[in-house]
Amino acid sequence: MDAAVRGDIRFTQQRSNEISRDQIVNPSLTSDIAERFPDLHPPFDSRQASVEAHRCLTCFDAPCVGACPTHIDVPRFIKKIASGNLVGSARTILEANVLGASCGRVCPVEVLCEGACVMHSRGEKAIEIGRLQRFAVEEYYDSGGKLPLRSRPELHQRIACIGAGPASLACAAELRQQGFGVTIFDKRALPGGLNTYGVAEYKLRASDSLREVQMVRDLGVHFVQREVDPVALEDIERDFDAIFLGIGLGAMNRLEVNEASNGVIDALEFIASYKTGSLTSAPPRVVVIGAGNTAIDAACAAKRLGAINSTIVYRRRQDQMSAFAFEYDHAVREGVRFLWESAPIALRDADGALQLECVQMAEDADGKLMPVPRSNFTLACDLVIPAIGQAPLVTMLEQVRGITLDRGRVVIDRPTGRTTNPRYFAGGDCVNGGREVVDAVADGKRAARGIAAMLGTRMEAPVG
Ligand code: SF4
Repeated sequence: MDAAVRGDIRFTQQRSNEISRDQIVNPSLTSDIAERFPDLHPPFDSRQASVEAHRCLTCFDAPCVGACPTHIDVPRFIKKIASGNLVGSARTILEANVLGASCGRVCPVEVLCEGACVMHSRGEKAIEIGRLQRFAVEEYYDSGGKLPLRSRPELHQRIACIGAGPASLACAAELRQQGFGVTIFDKRALPGGLNTYGVAEYKLRASDSLREVQMVRDLGVHFVQREVDPVALEDIERDFDAIFLGIGLGAMNRLEVNEASNGVIDALEFIASYKTGSLTSAPPRVVVIGAGNTAIDAACAAKRLGAINSTIVYRRRQDQMSAFAFEYDHAVREGVRFLWESAPIALRDADGALQLECVQMAEDADGKLMPVPRSNFTLACDLVIPAIGQAPLVTMLEQVRGITLDRGRVVIDRPTGRTTNPRYFAGGDCVNGGREVVDAVADGKRAARGIAAMLGTRMEAPVG
């Protein structure tokens, strides 16, 4: 990874594997790459934010609050923007959601808070809650603001969070303000999980993710770079009173075709590579397999990295894709092509050029998806990017005695986040199978309360 332009957060290893503040440095992109990934939605300036905030009706029992998994008091923070109290606005957001900055950028607000806004029923455009949230938090952080949570001296009780993504960060912040000692373990060089490595750069820069990590670290949370293998797990079980599993999901599922050794990279690895500066261009012809939001991110990135043709191949119809409609619209604007009802069946390396053989698909009379006879066709391409869902980390999870899995997902008691092993709690993608950042944050908060209750501590309200 290129370390030249990393900003203020970098992970390297100390003797104990604990990562210090000055070792956390932001990934650095060349200026050329950075220019290719400008913000998808440019931030509001002060005047725009004020105008938009004044449109809000400050609804009683506002539906936008209920639509947010972390229940941010939306009318309250918007009203504070309208009155010029940006510090108060950011604090309202961050007290409910320590990752309020990244959620302001990456939340699918169209189907959450903004989707619930009463303005729709008045025939007016929904309040741009996401951009207002981003404006308030980024202004606050840019002016030197910190998380409005009290950092207390550590109690003797210690909690380990495994995985350094949004669920663990939220869980750790909640626990830390109650005085618990918290250590986050992750095998990767940079913390932040998919926020750092897996979200398209034009939505969330790695540097933005790492600034939020630093805020959590400033609460006194320890970060240790260590892969949690059976030996590490034994150490953790011995040294900590409770353990939170926020490990997310594993690698993308593999294509069920003969994969050429070269010219295939899974979507998350592709995205992580350009976000951390190790991949700076894409070849002319790129094919992405799958039609979820990650597939869209990869296909759009390929275009921005120089691909002439970036094509999404999906075995079902357009109305069956899992990507949000606004993501699809964005991809079309970026010039991504879509081949619906097409499935790859073989990949060949022909004199250095890849040939992806596909077949048309159609539902039979029983609604079962079947290949259409004699409908094979071939796509010549230079790079194939599978984006067909992440596999659960079953091997790792099976090392944990006493937890129960359901199709690879960790089974929890919903109100507490507790697993069937009473010392273990869990949240985020390893429980829900892969949802939004804001869902992971809500899970982490819930588990923190469950852990505190188990350890006999009643959670206190954040400090304003
Ligand atoms: Fe404002 Fe819309 Fe929420 Fe009402 S529903 S408080 S108008 S953002």
